[in-house]
Amino acid sequence: MLWLWGLTVRINSKFIKASCAALALSFVNTAQAELNIFACEPEYAALAKALAPDANIYSATTAMQDPHQVQARPSLIAKLRQADLAICAGAGLEVGWLPMLQMKSANAKVRSTDNGLFYAAEHIQTLDKLDKVDRSMGDVHAQGNPHLHFDPERLLQVAQALNLKLVQLDPDAKPQYDAAFTDFSTRWQAATVKWQTLAAPLKGKKVIAYHTSFRYLFNWLGMEQVGDLEPKPGLPPSTSHLASLQSRAKQGDVMAIIVASYQDERGADWLGERTDLPVQMLPMSVGGNDDSQDLFSLYQSVITLLLKTSQK
Ligand SMILES: [Zn+2]
Repeated sequence: MLWLWGLTVRINSKFIKASCAALALSFVNTAQAELNIFACEPEYAALAKALAPDANIYSATTAMQDPHQVQARPSLIAKLRQADLAICAGAGLEVGWLPMLQMKSANAKVRSTDNGLFYAAEHIQTLDKLDKVDRSMGDVHAQGNPHLHFDPERLLQVAQALNLKLVQLDPDAKPQYDAAFTDFSTRWQAATVKWQTLAAPLKGKKVIAYHTSFRYLFNWLGMEQVGDLEPKPGLPPSTSHLASLQSRAKQGDVMAIIVASYQDERGADWLGERTDLPVQMLPMSVGGNDDSQDLFSLYQSVITLLLKTSQK
């Protein structure tokens, strides 16, 4: 082979360049390119891990952080600068920090959803989309609720769209991405059926919760959030607002007070003490408690915790 190459060098240098390129391409064909993936939230890092197991994946936030408010730290800027793909919830969740990161990282690859920017919310129907928004409403999500990762069907739609995005960015590895998606999809659909059966006793249960973090979860399980610890989206619970929730709880039909892993529990604890309602923390995402190591165990943990609380 080498001898042959030596011969072709003397004969035609253009030909050897073409041969080398072909050889390099054949290597790419056998493995996924090592994509650098920047996930805005841990649920999308987990989804990326399931769909692109060979990629280098970085999560900008943890389940203990408020995804609405993130500091554009130099380490985040550096990570976004190296990214081939950025995966975020979208629907305005990251509006307070992602544009700044994009500007400072100056990485053209992750500037547009035509290329390496992926917004999950663009691939599903969001809940609670608003026609009109004004400042008096607080920090509302006008494009609909972006906390969509607790709806198994929507998350599967997102996974499907993300699979297409991965193939667009790294077409040579299409067979591997497709196989990973099929595997995820099969396991996810089977798990969804199991969770629905398990969570059946939660149907019709009413809760008071913090923000609309679990809007999709409650919607999926047929639960109802009858009160919000936030007087308005983005505002902490005020004394007068907590008092109004206290009188709402007196109706006696509320199961529990729910807070997400990153939220301040003080308002919930205050209300819990005065109403004798259990306060239950739920992991907002993967890593939000010890049991939630991937998307599957996250769902399992959230349902298990809700079932335990319902028996209190
Ligand atoms: Zn929100």
